[in-house]
Amino acid sequence: MRSSFLRNEVPVTFRDHPGVQSALLYTKINLCNLNCYKCHNRRFFKGKEEFFTFEELGEKLEMLKLLGVELLIISGGEPTLEPELERSLDFIKAYSFPVRLDTNGTRPERVESLIREGLIDGVALDVKIPLLDEYTPDQLQRFKRVLFSSTSVRESSVFEYSNLVRRTIEIIKKYSLPYTLLRTVEYPLLTEEDKRLIKTELKSLPHQFNPFFDPEE
Ligand code: SF4
Repeated sequence: MRSSFLRNEVPVTFRDHPGVQSALLYTKINLCNLNCYKCHNRRFFKGKEEFFTFEELGEKLEMLKLLGVELLIISGGEPTLEPELERSLDFIKAYSFPVRLDTNGTRPERVESLIREGLIDGVALDVKIPLLDEYTPDQLQRFKRVLFSSTSVRESSVFEYSNLVRRTIEIIKKYSLPYTLLRTVEYPLLTEEDKRLIKTELKSLPHQFNPFFDPEE
């Protein structure tokens, strides 16, 4: 039976969760409800559609234990859109790994359900734009490009994103899990004022800005 994770090299790194040796597993890359500006994962994993079986995943997890991996990071795509995710997280938990879920924050109920079921130990949430009640026409144009790589999507899509991510942040605050981190990619479409607004909104939470690398260069 197939797991939720792509059959792929499993990178091991200290950089993704600073100071913690972590390994990354990826759910289906095209399963995402955003289409962010120059999404790295969509480019790097193009055409990859094979998944670990549970037997293969078990072997991988045994190997990662031997390597001293301390944390498993679930990335994607958007993992909260994966219908069978619980089954795969349950399987990982049997190997006693803490798990961090990387999410774009648009599925707050699913995030809360995973926390309540004890399947995740932290959430890495990418806050891609300032989360405001109102936006100027200029902001809406830029933020549509950040989130959807297009200016022809409905303006309400930006407001919907903002509301959903704010709900996810409330859930993150409610549970204060040990491996939680908020991040913002420094997209070239963001202004210094945008970054200041994001920083102000998130000042009570662990948050970092990550540099933007153009995957086409
Ligand atoms: S949320 Fe993540 S996977 Fe989805 S399009 Fe944006 S960067 Fe890519």
